[in-house]
Amino acid sequence: MDFLQKNTDISHLSNFKTKAFSKYYFEINKESDIELLGDIFDFAEKENVKTLFIWGGTNLLFAFDIFDGIIIKNNLLGWFYDEDSKILFSYSWEKTWDIASWLETEYNQKIWHRFIGLPWSIGGAVFWNAWCFWLETENNFLEAEVYNLKTKKRETLNYEKMDFSYRSSIIKKKEQYFIIKIVFDLAEKKEKYKSDVDNIIFRETIQPKGNSGGSFFKNPSKEFSAGRLLEEVWLKGFHLWGAYFSEKHANFLIASENCTWKDLITLIDLAKTKVKQQFNMELESEVRIIFS
Ligand SMILES: Cc1cc2nc3c(=O)[nH]c(=O)nc-3n(C[C@H](O)[C@H](O)[C@H](O)COP(=O)(O)OP(=O)(O)OC[C@H]3O[C@@H](n4cnc5c(N)ncnc54)[C@H](O)[C@@H]3O)c2cc1C
Repeated sequence: MDFLQKNTDISHLSNFKTKAFSKYYFEINKESDIELLGDIFDFAEKENVKTLFIWGGTNLLFAFDIFDGIIIKNNLLGWFYDEDSKILFSYSWEKTWDIASWLETEYNQKIWHRFIGLPWSIGGAVFWNAWCFWLETENNFLEAEVYNLKTKKRETLNYEKMDFSYRSSIIKKKEQYFIIKIVFDLAEKKEKYKSDVDNIIFRETIQPKGNSGGSFFKNPSKEFSAGRLLEEVWLKGFHLWGAYFSEKHANFLIASENCTWKDLITLIDLAKTKVKQQFNMELESEVRIIFS
């Protein structure tokens, strides 16, 4: 396995930017690299270590000093929009935000206007079924070409096979697929509910800047948003060592410079305990916490 790098610094690969290393590391830079995934997964099984794919890392919190496994970074780039058929083809590492902006400026195609401002990759958006005010990634999804880690073959997953739901898809549920490229049909706007919110203005006014994963906890119910619960337990703007909940938006957990993963986890546990004690509700993180 000489193509695997060892003891690699991966701090920049999570949006929280806490110090982290990986025992093994591999980058997929071209299509032919995908064929090595079979060997990598056999090696992981033999060594009894974990594997983790990463695109932009905006939804990942590393809760370890050294990841005892293999981090696989996806760098597959390139996209193409066919103006006549309104079909978009994209490799999984392209940025959703960039594509949405280009579609508007180059092709006057405004269906993805609300995705301007959605951080990082289009593959990540498919994995999570990312959404911006009821415009969901699944709405215009046609199919994805994936590498199946169990059969070690490429296959095509259509809309039905993707099993999309709120902030989820088959890719998230099964963790046996590597997404290579995705096809969208942008002929018609298909948002779940109509919304006139201008996402760009909303983000500017509501969302704080800094190293975060966006909204940190899921909203436990329609009446009780996670942000409201955090405010009620006096954690809005609260700092614990290098970690804090933003003064601007309580559900944004932010890592300041020199913040460690232990600072973040301690503050997360404190929030869960306080909300449980005061409201008998369980806070569940929307951001994926990766333990070694
Ligand atoms: C400020 C801020 C605002 C945000 N606003 C929103 C919002 O409005 N709406 C929303 O839905 N989300 C939002 N997010 C969350 C996040 O940015 C999006 O969900 C984004 O689409 C995730 O993309 P990513 O490239 O960072 O994915 P990553 O976090 O890198 O990866 C997502 C998951 O996919 C897996 N993965 C990576 N590569 C592959 C592959 N090739 N095949 C299979 N699995 C793979 C990873 O293991 C990981 O579990 C926000 C985040 C921030 C920081």
